[in-house]
Amino acid sequence: METVFSKIIEGTIPSKKVFENERILAFYDIEPAAPVHVLIIPKKFIASMNDVTPEDLPLIGEIHAVAQQIAIELGIAETGYRLINNCGPDSGQAVPHLHYHLLGGAKLGALVG
Ligand code: 5GP
Repeated sequence: METVFSKIIEGTIPSKKVFENERILAFYDIEPAAPVHVLIIPKKFIASMNDVTPEDLPLIGEIHAVAQQIAIELGIAETGYRLINNCGPDSGQAVPHLHYHLLGGAKLGALVG
């Protein structure tokens, strides 16, 4: 399915990349909600968390490892950060391509906890 993120993956929409390998792309969010706001996405099309299958689990694990690495590289590992996935209408998921928001660089408001 073609989305803004598939266009970013193929390069027809430009992005400020933070990390890329054969399976995963990370880039700065165009409307940052925190001083550090990076989106981490699989290059494989997965519409949402509802569509993750058991065969995708290594990829999901790798996304977590990439998030940890980016947090270290951007200097927010010690101060703290949040990794968010929005799934479906009630969450506000706007782009139907699985993605994780990596947020940090300031005290983040609590949604839970
Ligand atoms: P969602 O609400 O679906 O979880 O988050 C989608 C995110 O994608 C939003 O934070 C939005 O700012 C970001 N976004 C939408 N279009 C673009 C774009 O063209 N480039 C970048 N870098 N981010 C985008």
